[in-house]
Amino acid sequence: MIIHVDMDAFFASVEQTFNPFLRGKPVFVSGNTARDSVIAACSYEAKKYGVKSGMSIVEGLNMCPGAIIVRGNPEKYIDTSQRIFNVLKTFTEKVELYSIDEGFLEINPENMRHENLMRLGLSIKNAINKETSLTCSIGISCNKTVAKIASDLCKPDGIMIVNESEIREFMKTLPVEKVPGIGPKMAEQLNLMGIEFCGQIEKIPLSLLKKKFGVRGEQVWYLCHGMGETKVRIQSPEPKSFGHSYTLRNDTDDINIILSVLCRLSHQVGMRMRQESYYGNVVTVAVRYSDFTACSKRKTYPFWFNDDQTIFRYASSLIFTESIMKKIRLLGVSVSGIHKRYQMNLFRDEKRERMLKAMDAINEKYGNDTVFPCMMLYEQIAYPPVTKTHAFMFSDLKKISSGQFTGAQEKQV
Ligand SMILES: [Mg+2]
Repeated sequence: MIIHVDMDAFFASVEQTFNPFLRGKPVFVSGNTARDSVIAACSYEAKKYGVKSGMSIVEGLNMCPGAIIVRGNPEKYIDTSQRIFNVLKTFTEKVELYSIDEGFLEINPENMRHENLMRLGLSIKNAINKETSLTCSIGISCNKTVAKIASDLCKPDGIMIVNESEIREFMKTLPVEKVPGIGPKMAEQLNLMGIEFCGQIEKIPLSLLKKKFGVRGEQVWYLCHGMGETKVRIQSPEPKSFGHSYTLRNDTDDINIILSVLCRLSHQVGMRMRQESYYGNVVTVAVRYSDFTACSKRKTYPFWFNDDQTIFRYASSLIFTESIMKKIRLLGVSVSGIHKRYQMNLFRDEKRERMLKAMDAINEKYGNDTVFPCMMLYEQIAYPPVTKTHAFMFSDLKKISSGQFTGAQEKQV
């Protein structure tokens, strides 16, 4: 059986436990308190007014004028999340961290009768509440899809068990947009085909869905039948840090070259972190001088990042906290305090993330260092590389971003 544990109004509830003044009141949590920013989470007192996460603060205030707006504190949420997952791991080894406030547990169904499952669910809820004073909702079924739907339907502070024999009946009257994996756009398409509830998928042959939506259509068909993954994915142990170091071609005290190398190392570290969807909040810079003495400096920041520019900014501020008296031989940059990507999109700079995503995609397709921060150029000018480089016309780049570009037009530069 799969147990889906989902915290109730997580960010808002955490704020309410830390600040008694917020308890029992409508609270919006946002990455930014500007009126046009988005509500990342809202308390149940605010949900009563119809406020939902994803709305702008202005929209939310129109529905619920008395709401208190709180700026989110990711470090609090990550800490609370870790305590919750430690509690879950006391029930079984097989725990999947699905997001910052959601997890799947896999349990052996032998002699797991309804009342036993109910008792297990309650003891999970009690254990989490004892550790964090927070409530959660629990869905139990034979696969992840149905378990997740069940926990959503019994919110807040509920438990719902859907046995294998009940799934068909359970899905029959379930609106398609309630199914995780069916987004609003797909739901709209299905509604247009006359499928409002999952049970109505019976009217449509699988071949038609396949023809219309390809692989997605097939997935939708299975999802609407209440099928889904039956195994949890257990993450391999998290890496402690991501780092790169570089021995300079000539020992140097040229600030521009030092910055340029730091920039490249930050770029390499950031790229690897993004590839594996990790964030960190500690930057360490290691320096070895021409006389082989060495030093390293580190600093912890109150938020998590994985973009080149932030890493570079912190790395260079660390290195320039004291003046460089000796020539440098080796430089290293690493980021630790690592966490897996959490669903904290609303606390991040989306515009920058889109830019980085585009840059990473180009580098993946056309080779590393096709696109890079221009600060890196200084090192390349000082020590020109003798490698073949791709050259693109700007118009080609536009085609790449719109997906029309087919082949690399390489030139020797
Ligand atoms: Mg939740």
